[in-house]
Parts: sequence; structure tokens; C-alpha cells
Amino acid sequence: MDLSTQNIKYIPGVGPRKSEVLKSEINVVSWEDMLYYFPYKHIDRSRIFKIREINGNMPYIQLKGKIHHFETIGEGRARRITALFYDDTGNIELVWFKALKMIPNLYKIGTEYILFGKPTIFGSKLNIAHPELETEDNFFQGEVGVQGQYSTTEKMKNTFLNSRSVQKIITSIFDNIKGKIPETLNVGILQKVNLIDLDTALHNIHFPKSPDLLRKAEFRLKFEELFYVQLNILRITKAREQHFGGFIFSKVGEYFNRFYDQKLPFELTNAQKRVIREIRLDTNTGRQMNRLLQGDVGSGKTLVALMSMLIAVDNGFQTAIMAPTEILATQHFETIRELLDGLGLEVHLLTGSTKKKERGKLLPAIQNGDIHILVGTHALIEDTVVFKNLGLVVIDEQHRFGVAQRARLWRKNEMPPHILVMTATPIPRTLAMTLYGDLEVSVIDELPPGRKPVKTIHRYSANRTNLYDLVRQQLQEGRQVYIVYPLIKESEKSDLKNLTAGFEHTKEIFPGYEVCMVHGKMKPAEKDAEMQRFVSGEVRIMVATTVIEVGVNVPNASVMIIEDAERFGLSQLHQLRGRVGRGADQSYCILLTRYELAENTRKRLSIMTETNDGFAIAEEDLKLRGPGDIDGTQQSGIPFDLKIANLAKDGQILSLARDVAREVLEEDPLLQMSKNTILNVQLVKLNGKNQTGWFMIS
Ligand code: ADP
Ligand code: MG
Repeated sequence: MDLSTQNIKYIPGVGPRKSEVLKSEINVVSWEDMLYYFPYKHIDRSRIFKIREINGNMPYIQLKGKIHHFETIGEGRARRITALFYDDTGNIELVWFKALKMIPNLYKIGTEYILFGKPTIFGSKLNIAHPELETEDNFFQGEVGVQGQYSTTEKMKNTFLNSRSVQKIITSIFDNIKGKIPETLNVGILQKVNLIDLDTALHNIHFPKSPDLLRKAEFRLKFEELFYVQLNILRITKAREQHFGGFIFSKVGEYFNRFYDQKLPFELTNAQKRVIREIRLDTNTGRQMNRLLQGDVGSGKTLVALMSMLIAVDNGFQTAIMAPTEILATQHFETIRELLDGLGLEVHLLTGSTKKKERGKLLPAIQNGDIHILVGTHALIEDTVVFKNLGLVVIDEQHRFGVAQRARLWRKNEMPPHILVMTATPIPRTLAMTLYGDLEVSVIDELPPGRKPVKTIHRYSANRTNLYDLVRQQLQEGRQVYIVYPLIKESEKSDLKNLTAGFEHTKEIFPGYEVCMVHGKMKPAEKDAEMQRFVSGEVRIMVATTVIEVGVNVPNASVMIIEDAERFGLSQLHQLRGRVGRGADQSYCILLTRYELAENTRKRLSIMTETNDGFAIAEEDLKLRGPGDIDGTQQSGIPFDLKIANLAKDGQILSLARDVAREVLEEDPLLQMSKNTILNVQLVKLNGKNQTGWFMIS
């Protein structure tokens, strides 16, 4: 029986209306889809807690009690409904931010409910947001032990599709399936990794017979999910390797050596040397290099890129470096041109705003090989840009360039150029293996000498005045200061108002110092001009939105003040902090927040004050937010709706999955052996399902 062609509509109790909602809300159409809609949580339904026992560190729990009254509070977006819920030991606040009209009609005052939810500390009080409430007789009879909980949307709840009804639908599907659910991995893998079969796994993920079987079911399903991601990505790599060779950079020559001997302004760090060596070896194998260079902000990636580019030029190739924004491209261009001054190399800039006339001159020069080094933005990968012999492409800030864009580069030559992608936001290993599983990884884990770690301080906005002394002192010593405001799309207007008010306020507080304001709504030329005034030192204080996150390098800046810091994510805060501490002097990062903070936010801020290590921060970020939210991963085209595996927690299973996938391909690169037919069929199926095209072999 092919479960993927059986429509959910015909399951008793579903029907046309609910099946529409299931489709539009959670993308469930077939029986198979429904069976792969896993519980987000399992709870022990046999235990009911007392309100007195609750603390802020508990997972989802059950309570039994009644609602005393409802209350509507707050205005506009802060509007919410609260209810006081009590049992014989105490009371706790319930809160809803959505479906406000519905809530008071849905639940009755004075009726006894079984409540299911997660207590959290908000401000100084405990509450439970968006709990599930059910009357006792609605409970499945005789239900004890471990129960799955399914996430549902408001729209689903409105059509009476709560967690409980999802569970009932799944029960019906199991009742209707004849025979066993067909296996999706081969026997060899099942035995090697000691996995339970798919049929048992699916039954036990929904209706665990025991905690042990639940664990085994989770393991089997997580392994399988990660295994296919890895199998696919490694297969692409293999296919590419077999299809194309790679340019051979056999020597280090004149340009590299002259630069190293005459121009290099400082000693390379050991980490920089090691990475350059890795790149050297990798570009001399006859295979195409695909390497990810991770290094914290300020670790000196640009120089590594530049020296790799010189090796390409030494071997007679052209090379290009691509940045995500015009400002960053321009800054790279200026840095590189300055560093290479006098070596006789043709270094040029190509961006979206390069004038037509200039473009007209540039394009033929690129095509006939007159240009050695091209710096630019996305404009570089347009089809109109044709190189004579492009040997190496460096991509700065990997996040904005997904696999699909890289694939365009692979197609730019008869033979694909070597590719070095650099990222300033360190990516946890597990995420890197999934996102860029086809890349080798180099790490710069050492900052240039003489840098003092930035001191990070968290203060409440209300107590800001005592910080101004510190800022004033820094200004008197000749330093420069950033003040950053958040800017998010939904409240752009009020954010701009905040920014402008902050700008005016700053001028009043620090009279006698030139202040400028920079934000994303300004015309690029105007923005660049203001930035430039700060870079040159004419302006001492820059009030800005996050446009400064990437790009500006002002070693004289020693203070970074972040307003409403609770509204920024961890990686973003770390990136912003990286703008200071670039010189030899002590720098400061000041995080200003309001007083009342959610628990997660408090955690973010304390991580920031405790560590400067970008990798540690990235790991924490992944844990706190989940991979889908990590900056820019959405654009990378990876299906982050991993259904069961969690990249923050399942690193070991991922490594195992990767090893097994590698072994399979080692033995059978094209998956042609009969025992691997099952894997091939499954890959084709996943490719077909994935609309992002990520599973595609390019
Ligand atoms: P990022 O890795 O964030 O791109 P950059 O390449 O912009 O870092 O380097 C940050 C700063 O450190 C630059 O001003 C650069 O000139 C300087 N720098 C790079 N390598 C070294 C080094 N080995 N010693 C001293 N300063 C260095
Ligand atoms: Mg950089």
C-alpha cells in the first residue's frame, strides 16, 4: 500500500473542510504526510502537578484546576488576555496573545480543566502562555503513560483540529493500514546502526509502548532524516568531483612572494598561516576546492583571501572576490588595491551601480584576461560577466550565497573555479555539516595579537546616565562611538522616530562632538557619505541602525552602545560588537534593555557578557533559537523543516549519519547496487517533494 497516495480526506472524522485546513496549515495531504507529522513533545500524562510545585525550569506539564476570571490588558500589539487559573494549592496567570476574541468564549469560568502548558518566568512572575485546556471527560479513557503532543495552529483549532484530534486521525490511519509500513532503509544499514524497522518506529513515535521504544523510534527517525540529507549532499559532491577536475595551482610565485616580503603590514597569525597552507594543498590536487573559511569577526579573513588570490594569479589565473553589499565590496576593493599597490596588478570593482560606460570597458577586459582581480557584488555572477580563465572565487559572508548561487559559479568555466567561502558568523559544526556538507572547513581560531577582548556590559535603559561618563571619557581620549538602534520592518516608522530622537538626544548629551545618523532608508550615496565622515574620524559619534553590521572597519572606535538590545538575536549582537575592539585599546560594548525581560532574552544577554567566543555564541544561538532562525539560513535553500532531528542537539547522530552515507557512496557512488535501490528510490522521492530544489543534483 502506497501511503503517499492515500488521501487523508477519507479518514473518518476528517472530511473536505478539515482536510483543506490540514493542507493549508501543515502541508498534510496523504496518510504518509500525517504519519510524518510527529509529536513535538511527549509528556507523561499520568502525572498532574500542583500549582504550588511549579517553577520556571519545568518542561510541559499538566495541571488540574479552574479559571477564576479573564482580563484584557495592553494596547495595540501588546494587547493580550490573561486568566487566573487556580487549584487547591495556589494560582497562576494564563496568557494569550492571539485569538483574543475567541478565548473567553472557548473556556468557561468555574469548570474543571486539565491544563497542559509550559510555565515560564516573565518579569518576576510565572505564567503559562497559550495553554491547552480540556475538560476531563474529553480525555481518552484509560490514558496513562507517555502521550504525544502535536502542535496546531489557530486556524486548526478553529476547525476543531487540536492535538487530541490529530492523535485520533493518526489512530484511524494506523487502523486502516493493511500490513506493515514498507521499509525505507536497507537491511545492511538497519543492522549496522542497530535501528528498529520503520513500521515499529512510526507506531512508537506516535503511541509509545514504553519510554525505551520511544527513544529507539526517535533515534531511527532522526538518523534516517539526517542520513538522507547527508547522502544527497555527499552524492552531489562525488558527482561533481567525478565530472570535473580542478585547476592545479602548482606554485607560489612572484606576486605572492613580493607581497609577502615587501607589502605585508604585519606578521601573519599561526591560524592564518595554517589556513593558507590548507588552501595551498587543496588547490594543488587536481580536484576543485570547495572550502568554507570560518573565523570570528576581526580574525583577518580578508588577508587570507587576498593571499590565496595571489596564488591564483601566480599560476596564471584570474580571480574574483564577491561581497554581499556594495559598501562591503567597495571596502574590500579599497583595502585590496591599497595592499597590492605597486605590484602591477589590475584590480577592479564591479557592482550593480557600476556605470554603463565603465562596465562597457570592464567586461571586455575581463573576458580577454587583462584583469587579474575583480572585486564586486552579486553582479559578478551575472551571465554577462565572462572570464578568460577564472581560477578562484572568494565569497565573503557565505550566508547570503546558497548552494544554488555557488552552482552558478561552477558553471562559469569549462572547469569550475576553486571556491573559498568566508563567513564571519561562525557556524556550529552540526549546522555547517548540513548546510555546507559538501564543503571542507578551515577555521581561524586566533585573533591578531594585541587585541584586548571587548568588555560587555548590560544595563537597564533607565540607568543609562551613569554610563555617559565612560563614553565621555572615551571621547575625550579621542575615540569614536557607535550607537545602534534596532530596525525591523513591521514597525519601521516608530523605529525611525526612535532613531531620530536618539540622534537629537545624543547631540544634547555630548555637545562639542560631531554626530552623524545612518539608516537603511537613506539614499546609498548619502549613506556612504555619512559613513565616510565617520571612517575619516571627522564624526565622532555615529547613531545608526544595523546597516553597520557588516562592512565598516574603524579601528579607532571603542564604544558600541546597543539600544533595545533585547530585540536583537545573539549572532547579531556579536556581529555588532565585532565593530569595536579592532584597535589595541580597551573597547566596550554596552547593551541597554528595558527592565522586564523574558527568560530567553536574559539568557542571551548573559551569554554576551560572559563570552567573546563567536563559536560558543553560535552554539548557544542554535540552542536558543533553532536553526531556522539563524541569520540567513532561509536563503540558503536548505529544507530546515527537518521534521524530527534537531541540529542543536543531534550532532552525534548527524556525524554517524554522515559516516554511514559516506561508506555507502564509497562502495557504490551512483547507488546502482541492488541493495541500494531502496536508497535511490527514497532520494528521488525526497527530491520530488522538496520545492526549494535543494535536493536537486545540479
Ligand atoms: P575579518 O576576519 O572580520 O574579515 P579582517 O580581515 O577585516 O577581519 O581583519 C580585521 C583587521 O585585522 C584588519 O584591520 C586587518 O588589517 C587586521 N589584521 C589582519 N591580520 C592581521 C595580523 N596577522 N596581524 C595584525 N592585524 C591583522
Ligand atoms: Mg571581513
